[in-house]
Amino acid sequence: MELEVIQAEPKSRARIEGICGSLEILIKVSKGLHVGSGKKTFLKIEEDKLKATVEKYGERSERAIEALMFLGLTQDILPFCESGGRPVIPGSSVKGNVRARLELSFRGKGGKVRSCFVDAGRGRRSWRHEGIWGERIREIRKVPVERDKKEERQCQFKPESRELNKVCLLCDLFGTTGLMGRLGFSDFIGDSVQLEDREFSYGMKLMVAPDESVFKGKVTFLNLQPEELGLLLLGMGLEKERTGRLVLMGRLKYREPIGKIKYHVESLYLSPLSTPLNVGKITVQPGQSVNTPILDQLVFQLISLAKSKFGDEIEVIDEVKRLDQIQLRR
Ligand SMILES: [Zn+2]
Repeated sequence: MELEVIQAEPKSRARIEGICGSLEILIKVSKGLHVGSGKKTFLKIEEDKLKATVEKYGERSERAIEALMFLGLTQDILPFCESGGRPVIPGSSVKGNVRARLELSFRGKGGKVRSCFVDAGRGRRSWRHEGIWGERIREIRKVPVERDKKEERQCQFKPESRELNKVCLLCDLFGTTGLMGRLGFSDFIGDSVQLEDREFSYGMKLMVAPDESVFKGKVTFLNLQPEELGLLLLGMGLEKERTGRLVLMGRLKYREPIGKIKYHVESLYLSPLSTPLNVGKITVQPGQSVNTPILDQLVFQLISLAKSKFGDEIEVIDEVKRLDQIQLRR
């Protein structure tokens, strides 16, 4: 059975009609992290080994390439993303990380689903990715894709063409073609992060932010309902308090013992223009900042609210635990 994506008119970006403000977030590295710069990398080959290998295999180029992979080919170390001389995790990477986790947490109900799966559904994935998220991915494949445009299953916002003025909840929150998201992600800066060179299988060398590294950034939000703020926190792997469980991020996270981080909420700030935030017995007024100890309670209340509002449409998956399980089974 195909799943129909629930779409609605996006919330206003112009008038204030919900909670607005920002969260100060830390990304704490538990087991090394590599986030690439997206720049091209170069391969170094020793010339005599290259000549010898190509001569040996002649026109059987596939064999030659394979042999080179194991014999003479070394890769330059892959740099960590940097800005102004400091290591950073780009806001777009953080956004993709949170969005994909949320997309993979939504389940279909009564033939309908709240996400069009922009991030989670794309491309071919490793067996580990399939192993962790398999059930959800099989569901995602039930969302029909336009036959002639394989990549364009995501919501498009084109208010001028009347029919295309609706989007799913996740596109409304994170944005899509033609529509700015109601959530904004700054770059996350690692002011005191000392990057290390590390070598992984197949001789792959990466610059890695070591364990205990901390990156600091901000998530801004516009016109949210309290349960939508709760969803954002769920997407960061938060559960009961302002430090979340271990989640996966960055390069080689499935294959090597790196890429395990925790999101931590430092503070919440409501803009003076915001509506008040009421959840459980807690009220946050416009212009107010929330730190400890109320912040733990606030996080708990917001997540409980999201879970009760979305009910069995949300299933939280502990990806690190599942990864450990599928590695053991292999
Ligand atoms: Zn969508």
